[in-house]
Amino acid sequence: HMPTAELQALDAAHHMHPFTANAELAAKGARVITGAKGVYLTDSEGERILDGMAGLWCVNIGYGRDELAEVAVRQMRELPYYNTFFQTTHVPAIALSAKLAELAPGDLNHVFYASGGSEANDTNIRLVRTYWAEKGKPSKKIIISRKNAYHGSTVGSASLGGMAGMHAQGGLPIPGIHHIDQPNWWAEGGDMTPEEFGLERARQLEQAILDLGEDNVAAFIAEPVQGAGGVIVAPDSYWPEIQRICDKYEILLIADEVICGFGRTGNWFGSQTMNIRPDIMTIAKGLSSGYQPIGGSIVRDEVAEVIGRTEFNHGYTYSAHPVAAAVALKNLEIIEEEDLIGHVQKVAAPYLKQKWEALTDHPLVGEARIVGMMASIALTPDKEARAPFATEPGTVGYICRERCFANNLIMRHVGDRMIIAPPLVISPEEVDVLIDRARIALDETLDE
Ligand code: PLP
Repeated sequence: HMPTAELQALDAAHHMHPFTANAELAAKGARVITGAKGVYLTDSEGERILDGMAGLWCVNIGYGRDELAEVAVRQMRELPYYNTFFQTTHVPAIALSAKLAELAPGDLNHVFYASGGSEANDTNIRLVRTYWAEKGKPSKKIIISRKNAYHGSTVGSASLGGMAGMHAQGGLPIPGIHHIDQPNWWAEGGDMTPEEFGLERARQLEQAILDLGEDNVAAFIAEPVQGAGGVIVAPDSYWPEIQRICDKYEILLIADEVICGFGRTGNWFGSQTMNIRPDIMTIAKGLSSGYQPIGGSIVRDEVAEVIGRTEFNHGYTYSAHPVAAAVALKNLEIIEEEDLIGHVQKVAAPYLKQKWEALTDHPLVGEARIVGMMASIALTPDKEARAPFATEPGTVGYICRERCFANNLIMRHVGDRMIIAPPLVISPEEVDVLIDRARIALDETLDE
């Protein structure tokens, strides 16, 4: 390929990066990633970078799996594309749907496909409103979500999300979405114990339902463990109370499993780890380990039955794309055959947990949280007081992320929280490399 500087100049001239201040990036040049294998990326200068984020929380089975490439090529030759709108279907759609029905808990047996998580969450907005309209309760339209949640970037899914910056750019949210606070004890728990705080935050859902009117609320959406919001693990008291409230007021529970699904939390789905019974699950990312863009909504028998009474006027050209579906199915088979869930439960997560939690001995690190293979640390100048820095939130986190990057580790920052979600296949030796590089970056951050 061309020399790095030329690639960077062309990139800066013509490529607009998502979630990026493009002028600032153009001035320094984007790092050009040229290949990947296992948990390592390679850049155009030949550096090997440990990918602590599995791409964007998605490359669960690791990079460089030839089996997936072979399945994609075979499917492209056989049937590269066809839709499932025209009273037609195809083998990859059938096989993947049956497999997902088998893997998903309870009677979550029906899949509506999209190209990713954002589209799937847009589908969910229409699914739950159609469901209640068909059940003779058309006033049940409002969806309750959480502040600081990320549910996608389309207008609908970014409205479900609770990121103030995303709302400000573009006049969101759309009407009919209501946000309650997230259960982030470290930052917002004050003098309460985590358990008291978890109950207080869950009861905000009940209060919102009472304020908005039970007859106006369709659904509550949340991630089992809030990912892009900073790997916020709710106190143990939170989810049982949320489930009780959803049951009591007949509110559909949507679990956004885009990050938590497919082994990330140590079970097939985060709902199993948190012991909740969703009516709808959003899936994407780990569904194909990022090898193809595919997502969807898995719904319970009764939801599918009600939706099935009418024509659901919704769908995407690439819903159940045959190549994406075939690759996703092979990915799920690999997770099963290699017992990657067992690897997470027995090897990777316990080892990472021990090393990750030990980071709290570093002067900058307050709490360390981890569920399965998603983890965060809160950076703080004062652990006792759980105090934020005097600088603009995110300043120290950004420095730490830059120091990680310079030390060939991808770790993300959300404000002043650092987060990781490495490929599930990571070995104990690779965890050691990750932790060593993280410690160097933390030391360098402290020095700055
Ligand atoms: N939901 C959650 C919880 C996510 O983390 C993401 C992406 O990061 C999405 C939805 C959006 O998925 P996509 O980027 O595939 O549209």
